[in-house]
Amino acid sequence: VIQINRNELIAKLRETGIKATPQRLAICEEILSRKDHPTVELIHLSLEKKFPTLSRATIYKTLQVLKKLALIQEVESTEGGIRFDPKKDLHVNLICVKCGTIQDVTTDSLPQLWSTLITEIGVKPQGQLLNVYYTCKKCK
Ligand SMILES: [Zn+2]
Ligand SMILES: [Zn+2]
Repeated sequence: VIQINRNELIAKLRETGIKATPQRLAICEEILSRKDHPTVELIHLSLEKKFPTLSRATIYKTLQVLKKLALIQEVESTEGGIRFDPKKDLHVNLICVKCGTIQDVTTDSLPQLWSTLITEIGVKPQGQLLNVYYTCKKCK
């Protein structure tokens, strides 16, 4: 979950040249507060009552803007859809190959392992996306 207040959000949207309409702000606040790596469809589901005219295209475009602003990242899911992840710090996405749900995982050793790996590679990463595919308990 990214901590960003509404004014910062409006300023950031303006930077990219897009107007912070109530719809766009609602989309941003929805994705930034979610922990379940929702698809465009799932965001649409939770906002359609409040914004009956909201289109999936608007949601997708707004999410692409947030991606450019480095506030969210795309995670390729296994059931064909793209999911959006507001968590930018080091973590592993555990992705079920059957139902496509994504869970964030961190371990005590992860920061150390990661820094060893990055030192060996010899680059300064600006971000990372670590996906592990498995079959979750429900789908077994
Ligand atoms: Zn599953
Ligand atoms: Zn994640």
